[in-house]
Amino acid sequence: MLKLIDILDERDKSLKRKSNNVVFPLSNDEKEMIKSMIIYLENSQIEDIATKYSLRPRMGLAGVQVGINKRFFVVVHEQEDGSFRYYTLVNPKIVSTSEELIYADGGEGCLSINREVIGIVPRHARVTIEGFDENGNYVKYRGREELSIAFQHEMDHLDGILFPDKINKSNPFKGKNNMRGI
Ligand code: ZN
Repeated sequence: MLKLIDILDERDKSLKRKSNNVVFPLSNDEKEMIKSMIIYLENSQIEDIATKYSLRPRMGLAGVQVGINKRFFVVVHEQEDGSFRYYTLVNPKIVSTSEELIYADGGEGCLSINREVIGIVPRHARVTIEGFDENGNYVKYRGREELSIAFQHEMDHLDGILFPDKINKSNPFKGKNNMRGI
């Protein structure tokens, strides 16, 4: 069942550090942590469980958020039929991006940000990302809309960037009219 995991808050300076490349193989502890992160994210998106355990529904978590300063993240994406798709990306790189920009209409969320943040984060509407799964197998995914935002948000974590860092300070809604809200 639900395994709660400790997620660092933005006040923890380690979230601002760049994560290190992963050298395979991952340890068993690291693989177990990846499983726990996926279970946590899936549960956070299942309403009954989220309510019972006061979880905020979120799609992604990076290693650095659970105290592992290595370049990997997981994303759990709910499909239209209510099932979930799981992505584990180790040493990921975004290899192509759309010109079209979008932003999350309700604001971006992050399990490390425990306050309300006003403003929009410009993101590419589509990205292609490649990397490796937890066993070192090459993977390549294309993400659009919210999945694309999730990939870009998690990539930023690996470089020590949190989404509020990407909001224009003097005009938090800068460029809104040139982008599509989703
Ligand atoms: Zn985040």
